[in-house]
Order: sequence, then structure tokens, then C-alpha cells
Amino acid sequence: MNNRHKCIIALILISICTSLSSVNSSEIPCTDLQKYAAEKGSPIVYEEETNEYHIKYKQENGGESSIIIRYCPSCGAEAPKSIRESLFCKVSEAEDKRLNALFGKFKSLEKVKEKFGEPDSWSKSGISISIFNATEKPQSKEFKVAIFSKVSEVADVWIELNNDNTIHGIMIIPKEKKK
Ligand SMILES: [Zn+2]
Repeated sequence: MNNRHKCIIALILISICTSLSSVNSSEIPCTDLQKYAAEKGSPIVYEEETNEYHIKYKQENGGESSIIIRYCPSCGAEAPKSIRESLFCKVSEAEDKRLNALFGKFKSLEKVKEKFGEPDSWSKSGISISIFNATEKPQSKEFKVAIFSKVSEVADVWIELNNDNTIHGIMIIPKEKKK
């Protein structure tokens, strides 16, 4: 999995976690995180590209996963401000809707290919989506992902496929801004 894909998966995790974080924010960002990250073998890792601290861990299947730290687990202060959003294009609600409508009618990859041709790329290792809710154990499921990049200036369409190439879901993923 390359860094961009890791970044995107973290982005998905943020959106899942946003609804869970309701801690009051304090004015001064935590400076302890820096110390934790500097410790050898620490699960807390600083990512310069996004100015974020992550908790990294190994999944049962050997894959690597990370959770973005929004508040310090020790003192509760806010983590430094993430610049992740500035790295990606802004996808308007209208564009998101347009792409969902464009791809939402297809039930299988075959049908998508009839209209749009071969995928522009594949997410090599697929993606594993963890689903959290209050009552069940977190579940992790893996999907192959076909990526269509030429359908929008600002976003790629990621199509999650079941083993028989039927479509499990569609994700509209903002493109990385050109540097
Ligand atoms: Zn702290």
C-alpha cells in the first residue's frame, strides 16, 4: 500500500471518528505527543506531510493500520492542527452527487467497464474497512478496489468489489493537489 492510499484510509477513519469525538477543545495544543513520538518503539508516530500524530498498530492479518490522534490520550489537550485537508482538492456536494449518480447505477465491474473501459488503476492491496459502533466488536473487511481517475478533475472514484466482482460500494476520494 503506498503512502497516498494510507493517507486516504486515514482520511476515511477521520470521517468515521469525527462523530465520536465530542471532547471540549482546549486552546493550547499538547506538546507531550512530540515526546511520545520521539521514544523508540513508541506506537505514536508523527507524520510531517499532514502535521498529524498517529497511533500505529498491526492488524490481525499482518496489515498496518493507524488512528489519527485528535486529542492527547494523556492530558486531553488538542493535537496540533492537521493540514491534511490542504493537501487534497475540494469536492463540492454537487460533484459528489454527480459522481455517485454516474456510478451508483452499476451492479458489477463488468457493467462499469462497458461504459468507462478498464479501470485507470487498482489499489494493489485492496482496502480494509473497519466498522465501529457502540454495540458490536469492530469488524474488518477487505475489498479489491478499482479506481477510475478520468471522470472528474477533483476526485477519483474508488469501486469496492466483492470477490465475484459485484460492487460493494463506491467512494468518492478527493485527488491530491498537484505540488
Ligand atoms: Zn498531552
